[in-house]
Amino acid sequence: MGLGRFGRSICKELYHLGHEVLVVDMNEDKVNYMSDYCTHAAIANASDEKALKSLGVRNFDYAIVAIGDNIQASILCTLLLKELGVKEVWVKARDTKHQKVLEKIGADRIIHPEKDMGVRIARQLNSNRVIDF
Ligand code: ATP
Repeated sequence: MGLGRFGRSICKELYHLGHEVLVVDMNEDKVNYMSDYCTHAAIANASDEKALKSLGVRNFDYAIVAIGDNIQASILCTLLLKELGVKEVWVKARDTKHQKVLEKIGADRIIHPEKDMGVRIARQLNSNRVIDF
């Protein structure tokens, strides 16, 4: 849900790895661009219950909510996906407040892309130094 850089990157990689991937975004150009890198593509409002139902999202094992700027849409979308029965809903959070709300409404994993990547890089640097030593 949401085709910013983060959502696009996840979608392309999952598709490349052979998974069935449905992408949803309100922006027609973004959806059209991604149609070569996914199995199903839909122009829709991801915080609209009817739209999510008609796309059959409950049949998917995982959902990734990659809507960053529009926190309200991100929260509503997460809530609906959980209510519709998606077992694993992973959500990109913009800040700590956003994270707290996502925790309360049942997001299964909360991702802070820049922060998480920063930690990974620091750990890699640290392990390289240990090996060098
Ligand atoms: P990134 O940092 O990953 O590039 P971003 O944090 O800037 O992304 P946004 O631009 O807020 O993310 O949103 C990502 C995408 O989500 C955009 O393509 C936008 O069109 C889409 N989007 C926002 N709200 C909705 C919504 N309610 N339904 C569907 N798509 C949405």
